[in-house]
Amino acid sequence: MIGGVVLTGACSFFSGVWLARKTPDDSDGPLSERIVSGLEAEILRLNRERLSDQLADQLTGELFSAETIGNSLAALLRQITPSPQDFAVVLGTGPNPVCPTTAPGLSKRFLDRWQISEELVDRLKTENPLVIQQASDTTGLFQCLAPQDRKRFKQLYLTGFVHGTELLAVLITPTAWPQASVSSRFEEHSLTEIEQRKLMQRTARKMGLRWHQLLTIEQQSHELRSTRDMLELRGIIDSEADEPTETLEQFATRLGEMVQADRVAIYFVARRAGEKLQPIVQCGRPLPPSLESEWHRQEQSLAHFAIESELGNPIDNVGPNQLQVELLIASSVTVPIRVNQRVLGALCLTRQTPNDSLESHRKLIEFGAEMLSQTLRRVFEEATIRRQARHDHLTDLVNRRSFDALLEAEMERVQRGESSTCSLILADLDRFKSYNDRFGHQGGDHVLREAARVLSEQVSRLRMGENSIVARYGGEEFAILLPNMGLAGAFRLAEGIRSAVETKKIHVQHTSLNLTISLGVAACPQHATAAGMLIAVADKALYQAKSSGRNRVCQAEPATHE
Ligand code: GH3
Ligand code: MG
Ligand code: MG
Repeated sequence: MIGGVVLTGACSFFSGVWLARKTPDDSDGPLSERIVSGLEAEILRLNRERLSDQLADQLTGELFSAETIGNSLAALLRQITPSPQDFAVVLGTGPNPVCPTTAPGLSKRFLDRWQISEELVDRLKTENPLVIQQASDTTGLFQCLAPQDRKRFKQLYLTGFVHGTELLAVLITPTAWPQASVSSRFEEHSLTEIEQRKLMQRTARKMGLRWHQLLTIEQQSHELRSTRDMLELRGIIDSEADEPTETLEQFATRLGEMVQADRVAIYFVARRAGEKLQPIVQCGRPLPPSLESEWHRQEQSLAHFAIESELGNPIDNVGPNQLQVELLIASSVTVPIRVNQRVLGALCLTRQTPNDSLESHRKLIEFGAEMLSQTLRRVFEEATIRRQARHDHLTDLVNRRSFDALLEAEMERVQRGESSTCSLILADLDRFKSYNDRFGHQGGDHVLREAARVLSEQVSRLRMGENSIVARYGGEEFAILLPNMGLAGAFRLAEGIRSAVETKKIHVQHTSLNLTISLGVAACPQHATAAGMLIAVADKALYQAKSSGRNRVCQAEPATHE
């Protein structure tokens, strides 16, 4: 607040001037009188100027001691609107304007309606403060005032808080400097218009500097916080948890806390379930049971909207308004999650009450979505590599190495008593070499792929939901593992495969051809309890099918010993 130092200084200085007038040390004369009065006027002027400067320093001192822009503005507005009838408002400019700040006497309507135009910004750069007369107002300022304010003020002063060439905010007051805040310091003397303007200019300069400093500090600390938050989020994602969804939930919960979201959800497009959106994670502040389903419905709409529109940018409150979900969710940011140019999901942050915290943390949210994309890409790539290692690239069936491991594991299960039986079918295409001879290797490959498809279809048709494995066991040999299936069932399935291959028309180079296959069937523990032995037994049965004319199924001989 303004202290007593200026008051004391002001009074004693004025007294000193007054004394100088009463005790002239020169003889009276027109010239010396003129000199004295000229000097006196100059001293008075300088004194007032110094006083005005001191006053400005004291006023702005408080602005500098405040540690946030909000507090600094509040201090300024307290100074220039000492009574409730006074009027002052500060409007922030720039891409992220500081919330408009108001002092008593201002209509709320004003804040909502009036905006600082580009033209005004330019004018303020050359004329500061700028006086707008109601009679000739082209800015629309007066039209936005409440009627009582419009009646009170015939002109308004716009003072720009400028730093460098950047206009940071505009202060609007009915006078260049509200008289009430300084009159007591000048006793009966009031500030002249020029003094008022100077005081305001000085304050605006300091305010611009302080505003810029605080903006920079706020921005730096925001960036620092953001970096720290990003590191923390990366730490969560990189932690090798056993359950990936637990990691995602922890990640989403922490992100939600950082950006003050009520709820966070991660949605994915489930390709198998008819492109339906599935929530993988839904976490945050617990919802009252009455709101839960509606919130989730609205959240899903937001995710759907983000994914459908494939927008690279986050969808903020425009989304809810367009989707008419604003009744429950007041603010939201939804970011699509892309993997290799495809939108595969969305990260959706929602709040029940409006707040710009989600918007101000947009960078962190985008970073979160990008991290999810990277994680997913990594998971997909790892899965692809793992799959490639387990599958045969020509037919996409399981390869022999994986099949052997799976067969061994299944037979161990039977041995441990966790399963009562399992069966094995070995199959070999009949006279396959002749197709290679006729159609070349590529034609042969096509026949192989078609045959592999028939096998897979038959197994999945007859063994719905069971963990059967169809493998390419060698060149044109296939192996089928049938967990929990006995010899009789396996024989029936083998017969089904044989018949399906026989009836399948395969088209190669404008020729339609028929293929046949021979199959050998063996079961565990009936024929063998070790994988190698079961294969040998099934192979023997296959050989028997070949030697007895091909296009047939033979089952292994009952085991005598292993
Ligand atoms: P059988 O009825 O006795 O089984 O007669 P077959 O001609 O099918 O048997 P054989 O073992 O004599 O020939 C198998 C052929 O399969 C030989 C090989 O060139 C061919 N083959 C193996 N792998 C591939 C492959 O990946 N692509 C193609 N096109 N041919 C393959
Ligand atoms: Mg063959
Ligand atoms: Mg063969």
